[in-house]
Amino acid sequence: MKIGIFGGSFNPVHNGHIHLAKSVCEEFSLDKIYFVPSRISPHRSSFEYASGSDRLEMLRLACSDYVNLSVCDYELSCDRISYSIYTVEYFRKEFPDAELFLLIGSDMLLSFDKWYRYKDILSVVTLAVVSREKGDYDKLTEKAKSLSEYGEIFIASAQPLPVSSTEIRKKVAKSDNWTCYLNKNVVQYIRLKGLYCRSTFFE
Ligand code: ATP
Repeated sequence: MKIGIFGGSFNPVHNGHIHLAKSVCEEFSLDKIYFVPSRISPHRSSFEYASGSDRLEMLRLACSDYVNLSVCDYELSCDRISYSIYTVEYFRKEFPDAELFLLIGSDMLLSFDKWYRYKDILSVVTLAVVSREKGDYDKLTEKAKSLSEYGEIFIASAQPLPVSSTEIRKKVAKSDNWTCYLNKNVVQYIRLKGLYCRSTFFE
């Protein structure tokens, strides 16, 4: 059994996240990928940061079209900062015999050696990295090589789909064309709940 763990703020989940998950699922023949939304400080502006339950619901909507994609509320239900090592250890306990993969975008690989207990993370999971910008393959393989003594790291061959949640939140706030980056049910949910829509929060 091969299981993927995909953490992030998913504020909101967009087509780049789904692209990453589907590409890794196919390329490395994973059985299941769990999206694990992180806790966001309650002190952050609610216009810029959707609540945990909203982010969870948007993920459920975006994953519902794919049998291999699921959502896990482990980090949201914990009452502490969600360091990835804790999440990875949780999955190791839940799935003692599975081969575990941690999915990340290329920006995260480049700063991976700053993560809390990154060597321990690499001793539990294989990293599966998807590029976020064209032409970064050499930079990524070099970084992967420098970390390879601690564990396995694979760079997926998928082409990048350059989109970010920050960009989408800005577009929603400005009523700029934003719906093409999201699952249609997520678009409906954002509209229904009026998420990210106060245009003044960037001023
Ligand atoms: P923000 O703009 O708010 O920082 P984001 O779009 O980077 O958000 P996160 O939820 O922070 O999304 O990212 C979760 C994970 O998904 C990270 O590992 C990130 O690198 C990866 N990721 C995000 N967008 C893409 C994309 N377009 N292609 C590949 N990976 C991505």
